[in-house]
Amino acid sequence: MLDEDQRFELMKRLRAELPDAPKPQAKGGRDAFRSVVSCLLSAQSLDRNTAAASKALFALADTPQGILDLPEERIVDAIRPAGLYNVKARNLRRMCRALIDEHGGTVPQTRKGLMSLPGVGRKCADIVLHFTFGQDTVAVDTHVHRVCNRTGLAHGKTEAQTAASLEARIPDGFLSDGHLLLLTHGKRTCRARAPLCPTCVLRDLCEAFPAILD
Ligand code: SF4
Repeated sequence: MLDEDQRFELMKRLRAELPDAPKPQAKGGRDAFRSVVSCLLSAQSLDRNTAAASKALFALADTPQGILDLPEERIVDAIRPAGLYNVKARNLRRMCRALIDEHGGTVPQTRKGLMSLPGVGRKCADIVLHFTFGQDTVAVDTHVHRVCNRTGLAHGKTEAQTAASLEARIPDGFLSDGHLLLLTHGKRTCRARAPLCPTCVLRDLCEAFPAILD
């Protein structure tokens, strides 16, 4: 595992690679609802398929009551591109019911509140907290999970375990852009297949290098 100085150096180099990382803006209302719905739809779905499903659904309704008023078949048809549409339609309706009955129709602004909603796990909760409510938290998706475990920044067998490890190990000052920095590095350089280790700025820090090239 990387020590404190190494973790700081790692994050500093990633920030130098991406100096203009946009800061998330706090939003709310319908944006928050759209965000949590898109997150629910994104499970095991490619970004473009999630976007297509979200667009089709929001053309029909974009409030909890509006979605509850739709026949389930219309929801299923709209979200079909995202896959697992029967389960997701059911969770979506249960989530809308819980928002109305337990949260006054608004999206809760705490991890605990978000994770109490059907279909919402830690990754989804952290994404909504960060990108919709502008809170300092590092959401761990498949790319962040991979970079953390390869480098030794944090460890965990699952994304949720890595998120808990990272929360304790990410250096001060990197909570606001840590997700974007790690995500971008994972997509551009530390790719799942054929990572670009020989030109990676982290190779002298990374626990996986050079064994990963064997
Ligand atoms: S050296 Fe390779 S494995 Fe390590 S962070 Fe860079 S790309 Fe990923």
